[in-house]
Amino acid sequence: MHATLAGWWNGISLRTKITGVTVLVLTLGLIVCGLGVMSVLRSYLLTDADRQITNTLGSVNLQTIDNDEVAAATQFVFAHTQADGSTIETNPTWERLRPVGSEVQREIRANMGGAPFTVRDEGGAPAYRMAVKPLSDGTLAVLGLPLRGLNGVIAQLLTLFFLFGLLVVVVGAVLTRILVGSTFSPLKQVERTAAAIADGDFGQRLGNTTPNTEVGRLNRSLNRMLNQIDGALADRARTIDQMRRFVGDASHELRTPLVSVRGYAELYRMGALQSREDVAQAMDRIEREAVRLGALVSDLLALARLDEARELKRTVVELLPLAHDAALDARALAPGRLIRVIGHDPEQHTGALEILRPVAAADAEAAQTTSGRLFRRAAITSTEAASVTASLRLASARLLRARRRTREEAEQDAASVPYVGGNARPVVFAEEDKLRQVLTNLIGNAIRFTPADSPIEIAAYGDKSRGIALLEVVDHGEGIPPQVRDKIFQRFWRADSSRTRDTGGSGLGLAIVAAIVQAHQGSIGISETAGGGATFRVSLPLLPSDEDGEEEVGELDEADQQVPAS
Ligand code: ADP
Repeated sequence: MHATLAGWWNGISLRTKITGVTVLVLTLGLIVCGLGVMSVLRSYLLTDADRQITNTLGSVNLQTIDNDEVAAATQFVFAHTQADGSTIETNPTWERLRPVGSEVQREIRANMGGAPFTVRDEGGAPAYRMAVKPLSDGTLAVLGLPLRGLNGVIAQLLTLFFLFGLLVVVVGAVLTRILVGSTFSPLKQVERTAAAIADGDFGQRLGNTTPNTEVGRLNRSLNRMLNQIDGALADRARTIDQMRRFVGDASHELRTPLVSVRGYAELYRMGALQSREDVAQAMDRIEREAVRLGALVSDLLALARLDEARELKRTVVELLPLAHDAALDARALAPGRLIRVIGHDPEQHTGALEILRPVAAADAEAAQTTSGRLFRRAAITSTEAASVTASLRLASARLLRARRRTREEAEQDAASVPYVGGNARPVVFAEEDKLRQVLTNLIGNAIRFTPADSPIEIAAYGDKSRGIALLEVVDHGEGIPPQVRDKIFQRFWRADSSRTRDTGGSGLGLAIVAAIVQAHQGSIGISETAGGGATFRVSLPLLPSDEDGEEEVGELDEADQQVPAS
């Protein structure tokens, strides 16, 4: 029963419910009000009638009865009765009481004390208000006032009240309906929009309703929610699309060297590789393809790890020594180049510099046989990395010994190095290996994509006012056209695949750089080097340092500063 009632109530529209409840409350209010007014008015009119009767009866005595004064007052019914209520004489209107005579007689006997009482007609409706006055001879004077007038007033009041009440209820119902309808009409739009969205039209938005109304606020919140959902869906679609492209590109890249290795293996099995040179050449190709595969897999792995957004193993890192090491590595790879390291020197307030000059061709070759082939950006595992780096450093040291700069050269160099404009030591809180990887990739590109004899600058400095530390790799090659500058950080993007494939690039190097920089809350930008070439500028949050140059890592956890063995 309760459930059916609840079901019925829930099935009614909100508009009908509100209108219905308003009508009900109005009707109840009017009924209570009407009953109150009627009872107050009735008791007032009765009191008035009682006063008239009592006043008139007060002046009645045996003489006035004889004078027939009261009897003449026709608005009253009057009787002179015995003590038992039987009439001695009456005025003519008393006749109207005949049908209820015995009743009247009983009432007279019961109310001989003088208090007014009501006499009802045969229908039971109050007809007269009466009072009794005992006279000196033991008889009674009975005076009654007809209640017709009083009943008429009350009936009229009731009729008027009913009519006005009805009008109020009807007007109230209509107004409520209109008000609720106009208030809820924007909800209809919400309903329509929600239905359209449910049907897949995600571009739908709710109209601009006055913002300080309930519906306006609801619309605003819903629109915000829809924008967020839309954004999330677009992000998801973009991510899926990127992932699909990434997987497609990765498989394509992986397939190319594999096909080539298989091709050579098949040639060998078919006996097509006859001479020792043929075999040696095939083996060399296979080895190179394997190295490329290894590099590609390492790059993919590095990117996948960065995508996982693992916690970085951060420590306090000085960028200048990193730049210096990177220059030595580059030197081993390209001994024929002029490589300059530029950084902020707090003592001199000028660009601190180190210049690695090109070495003679013979020395270069000797060093390269030790290190050059080992230097493939990511073709090494992390354990191999240490030994490769050590070999590179060794080769660099040999090269440095092979060619020391003369005093004049040093002075010349000092004059030729531009002041980089830094005003703080470049110290950051970062994962050192990752920053080394950034430099390796950028310098590797600078070497691969610029002429063999063009110089390279590596700058590291801090900008206190902007709170950033900067790492710059500046080359003097062809440069990167502005229209492709935002594309080159995309995965597998290469300016010219046939050319760059020969250089061993997979198009992942700069994507890795961008991911590392982003993981460190930094940014990377490309600009044109003065006189031509590309300048890659990595900005990282500068670690605040006090006056003595001590870095403030107070708020960082002890654990954060540890470098866990990898
Ligand atoms: P790759 O593995 O091919 O080097 P990267 O992501 O490192 O891939 O570089 C993407 C492309 O950007 C390269 O193929 C090259 O065309 C261009 N590029 C990168 N660095 C330089 C540079 N210093 N000078 C000119 N072009 C560059």
